[in-house]
Amino acid sequence: MKTQFTRLRGMADLLPATIAPWQRLEAAVGHAMRAYGYGEMRTPLIERTSLFQRSIGEATDIVEKEMYTFSDRKGESMSLRPENTAGCVRAAIENGMLQPGSVNRVWYTGPMFRYERPQLGRQRQFFQVGAEVYGLAGPAVEAELILLSARLWRELDIMDALTLEINTLGDPDDRARYREKLVAYFNEHKSILDEDSLRRLDRNPLRILDSKNPAMQDMINAAPSLKDSLSDESRGHFALLCELLEASGIKATINPRLVRGLDYYSHTVFEWTTTELGSQSAVCAGGRYDGLLEQLGAKNMPGVGWAFGMERVIALMDKLGKTAAPSAPDVFVMGTDEVSAADSLALAEYIRQQLPNASVLHNTGGGSMKSQFRKADKSGAAFAAIIGGDELAKGLVTLKPLLGGGEQQTLPRTEFAEAVQNRINE
Ligand code: ATP
Ligand code: MG
Repeated sequence: MKTQFTRLRGMADLLPATIAPWQRLEAAVGHAMRAYGYGEMRTPLIERTSLFQRSIGEATDIVEKEMYTFSDRKGESMSLRPENTAGCVRAAIENGMLQPGSVNRVWYTGPMFRYERPQLGRQRQFFQVGAEVYGLAGPAVEAELILLSARLWRELDIMDALTLEINTLGDPDDRARYREKLVAYFNEHKSILDEDSLRRLDRNPLRILDSKNPAMQDMINAAPSLKDSLSDESRGHFALLCELLEASGIKATINPRLVRGLDYYSHTVFEWTTTELGSQSAVCAGGRYDGLLEQLGAKNMPGVGWAFGMERVIALMDKLGKTAAPSAPDVFVMGTDEVSAADSLALAEYIRQQLPNASVLHNTGGGSMKSQFRKADKSGAAFAAIIGGDELAKGLVTLKPLLGGGEQQTLPRTEFAEAVQNRINE
């Protein structure tokens, strides 16, 4: 049959056969967030375009060329969210969460949308998990956020493949001073700048430092360093973060070239990177964005957070052989043709009540015992629960192990759950 509809480029269908690592990751995230006292936040997938222009910045790749923007029926410009820091801050302000002196620790997960060239670890609809803290200005909360991410990598057993890179961008004054020096320097070397960099020269010169163009590397390496423009206060902030990380047993590499793509960062920025995923090396990225909250209407409210791409974490889990097998049912319920569908359904319900954590698959549709056993084997179930007319009349059920050895046994229904437990414990 001809397939009439296909999914859009860069958007994936996640199917039952490959969902296991997603669920494993989601469970680990829920667990870690609870352990650190973060509360989940869910905001709309669509926001006014102006929110993203205001927060992410007009001169960023995201706003310049990656957003899915459209007019609604009244002509108002909307965008699918390309990230969720802006949406969370908007929601926190709108819902009165950011009273003076308040501290909020929140997290989110969900799809984000960016019109990019799809490749491994780069989708047009991709999923992020993010953690954000509003109301704490010091480096201790930055260390906490980094520890939270590290805890996740350890729980997923992918820590060995990840490196933490950190840098400081200083405060807005430091950055303004640095920007001036940098623009002067790049102007001296204008003939070496490529087209992208020339465009960034006026709008976002720090981003030029991020360029991967080999022809520009020597010039970039010799560019003035932000470090020399930092105030004593900014230096102190960063030095304390480094101490806190060291005291917490977290190894960090200082990367003076790490500037991050978004306009709203100040002071600390960091990335967890890997060499296992080709050019999509950034797995998790974050930093402090004190100015953003004020820009969106919260007075004097510092903010800091990170986000990671779930596809990249799963690709890494996959590469390292840490993805779980798809989950198979525990019990497959079948009946002989003397047993009605109502009776075998009732048995399946009974077993689900007795074994509330088990996955119990009911064979709908009948068929010969041979074909039912074939279906049971194909499902990967560990046990079959079988009833015939005789068993039905006497309140019995037959338990047959399908994986490995073990005798089948016929026993009262009331003892089925216990027998399954005993066999699992063996
Ligand atoms: P990159 O440099 O890879 O484009 P970015 O700086 O645009 O990343 P952020 O906006 O900081 O990324 O988003 C945080 C994380 O979200 C990234 O580190 C990455 O893991 C993930 N991510 C970003 N864009 C995509 C995408 N198109 N597909 C899948 N994951 C993505
Ligand atoms: Mg990007």
